[in-house]
Amino acid sequence: MSKYINGHSDVIMGAIMTNRSDLAEQLRFFQNALGDVPSPFDCFLVNRGVKTLGVRMECHQKNGLEIAKYLESHPKVVKVYHPGLVSHPQHELHKKQCSGSSGMISFEIKGGKKEASEFVANLKIFTLAESLGGIESLIEIPSLMTHTSVPEEQRKHLGISDSLVRVSVGIESVKDLIADLDQSFSKI
Ligand SMILES: *Cc1c(COP(=O)(O)O)cnc(C)c1O
Repeated sequence: MSKYINGHSDVIMGAIMTNRSDLAEQLRFFQNALGDVPSPFDCFLVNRGVKTLGVRMECHQKNGLEIAKYLESHPKVVKVYHPGLVSHPQHELHKKQCSGSSGMISFEIKGGKKEASEFVANLKIFTLAESLGGIESLIEIPSLMTHTSVPEEQRKHLGISDSLVRVSVGIESVKDLIADLDQSFSKI
């Protein structure tokens, strides 16, 4: 709920779903006993957000794929990870399992920590922040931000290098987003 379902990066909320009525009953009991309920205002925001889920996802998907292709063709990019790209090792599996993709991309920038840090700092439309799944485009460096608490050995094992950049593509004009990426690449 905190991510695409609410979609506006202004709520922390989750949902548990089950088609088993015995489990649902137990969960409802615990929720009532523990007082584990979201605020009315948060519920209002999620209810409002979910009304545009379909159109938002279509735009996240379209912008995400276009940006993934742009990145893949850029000389300062070593590798792009996005399941909608034909180059992705699980592209065929993705097509079988999913009806579309999201705005999430990660890529390896040429160089290392220095190039990645300068690249994200020079951007004007993308906000340097850890969240994802909202209407505005965010960018971050996992090794320094979201995954900095993962031990270095394990990061390496997971493929989280110092030059890995993660992007949550929003629903802004994709032309503006690509122009922003372009101006930042030209400075590194
Ligand atoms: C995802 C996220 C959280 C955690 O939210 P969950 O609902 O537990 O997934 C917290 N803060 C930020 C900024 C986030 O993006």
